[in-house]
Amino acid sequence: MNGPVETIKNEKRMLLLEFLDENRSRCETLFTDNLDGIFILDIEGNIVQVNPKFERLSGYEAEAAKQVKLQFLFPINYVNKVFHHFHKAVLGQFQNYDCKMTSKNGELVDLNITNVPISVNNQITGVCAVARDITELKRRKEEVRKVEEMHKILTDNVLDLIISTNLKGEILYVSPSCVHILGYTADEVVNQNSFAFIHPDDAKNAYYNRKKVLSTLENGRECYRILKKDGDFVWVESICKPIIDPETRHVLEVVSVLRDISAQTKVEEEAKKREETYRDIVEYSPDAVFIASGDQFLYINETAATLLGAANKEDIYNIGISDIIHPDYQEIAKERIQVVLRGEATDFLEFKLIRLDGTVFVAEVKELPTIFQSKPARHIIFRDIMERKKTQELLLNSEKLNVAGQLAAGIAHEVRNPLTAIKGFLQLMEAQSDHNQNYFEIIQSEMDRIELILSELLVLSKPHELKFETVDLIKLIESVKMLIDTQAIMNGVRIETIYSSKNITINGDKNQLKQVFINILKNAIEAMPKGGIITIELKKYSFNKVKLLFKDTGSGMPQHILKRLGEPFFTTKEDGTGLGIMISKHIIENHEGTIHFWSDQKGTIIEVILPMARYNQK
Ligand code: ADP
Ligand code: MG
Repeated sequence: MNGPVETIKNEKRMLLLEFLDENRSRCETLFTDNLDGIFILDIEGNIVQVNPKFERLSGYEAEAAKQVKLQFLFPINYVNKVFHHFHKAVLGQFQNYDCKMTSKNGELVDLNITNVPISVNNQITGVCAVARDITELKRRKEEVRKVEEMHKILTDNVLDLIISTNLKGEILYVSPSCVHILGYTADEVVNQNSFAFIHPDDAKNAYYNRKKVLSTLENGRECYRILKKDGDFVWVESICKPIIDPETRHVLEVVSVLRDISAQTKVEEEAKKREETYRDIVEYSPDAVFIASGDQFLYINETAATLLGAANKEDIYNIGISDIIHPDYQEIAKERIQVVLRGEATDFLEFKLIRLDGTVFVAEVKELPTIFQSKPARHIIFRDIMERKKTQELLLNSEKLNVAGQLAAGIAHEVRNPLTAIKGFLQLMEAQSDHNQNYFEIIQSEMDRIELILSELLVLSKPHELKFETVDLIKLIESVKMLIDTQAIMNGVRIETIYSSKNITINGDKNQLKQVFINILKNAIEAMPKGGIITIELKKYSFNKVKLLFKDTGSGMPQHILKRLGEPFFTTKEDGTGLGIMISKHIIENHEGTIHFWSDQKGTIIEVILPMARYNQK
């Protein structure tokens, strides 16, 4: 049963449909080909007609669309809005609003809807809703908004100074960082000419650079000073870019990004200065120095170039570091590079190096990490030790001769005695013609002794090659004792020996060790002008070493002398050479041993520790 209201509604609906029918042919194109979606509603909000564009927008075909209730066509949070505007239109008002529509497949479409009331015979019979798809528009707007926002965040917060100027050079925009960099607020500089802020000395360059940017339309890059509010200036690196109108190709404005490089410039200048000082120090260093990275020479000083036999430094820069290292030392050189790469310095080590002419020399080499031209590098020091080795040998020999010379006096005495005996017995032999066996034996042993002493003397006074062999220490000490005994007896000195074990052997050079013991014993005798006792103790020390102690009951040494022991030419004796201890130390170190001194008024103890034979493979 239809009530009176229903009847009115139905009448209006009939009127609307008739109206649409009547106007169909007139409005056909406007309706069918419209770029916007159109849906026509009766006054109750039922869809009565849609155009093809609406079909595409909503996904519903015309007949299906007519079945869809308005409240289901829009997401729930838009339904109120849609109905609100619909009712207003039914009351005769034009309405325009944005909303979203849910298409058949569930996608949301952004729409701008215009509601036009349809009036037939002065009665509103329906609403024509024109729906424009604004999805793309919205998306673009959102994109622009995001870019703008990003832009703002960037320009407002960058530490760099961003300036935009017009063609006349007047400042249009400046980023807030202006206050921090120049001390001016944005308001103080906007509309001013940008050239007013450039250091007078740099203005000309800046002007030409800008001119070039404007004519070539390419980005410009340069460094100059700009003036701060407090009168000081800052160094900046500037990148400027012309903003071009895409249609007219005219420059609209120039945007520059300025970076404060004062700190950087200062650091660079300081580094340069440091490097110059470093170079000066190294260049005039008496040590040969080069700086290397990998296998490459980065720098070499005069001394090094000379040592390597290079007429000019360029010859060195053309070869690799491995070219100057003897093949036997390539491996260890590589290992030492690793040490330096770890940031540590190496010790001095003897290397065989090759000069440019191919000759080989021995040098002591040390490497340390350094920074060169702002990059990590190796600072390598090397010293030619041929000269030093020669000097050392000379010293060694001169001391040997000295010792031999001094011993000769004692030997003469020693030789005279057996000779006297021989003479005496020979006289006896002459007297008694029957051959007495005893006399002959005595003659024999005395002759042996002469021979031995003379041979020892010969060994000492003759320079010789180093020869490492197994040395029986007890035998060695006994032979030294015999050699020095005469001098000892003459000075009222007794030499005692304590051997804690037999067969103690070490690996070493017999003659050099002999020289050490002679030096020590001679010093001891010289420290006891009124006579005394020298005790030589020999024992095993830890599992792989032997310990020798030389104790005397002499005058001893005060601290200040003890400290200087081993200095070349340090002597307290009128006819001393001051070389004995230095050479002894050197020899013991060559045998991988150590030497120590203790002394007081009661006498001196000298301790020598040496590795035992099988632990010293030299
Ligand atoms: P030289 O014997 O020619 O003086 P050395 O190098 O052998 O040179 O000894 C250096 C100095 O050390 C000696 O001049 C002496 O003062 C001191 N010295 C060495 N050994 C002893 C010792 N056993 N007792 C006291 N002083 C010593
Ligand atoms: Mg001496």
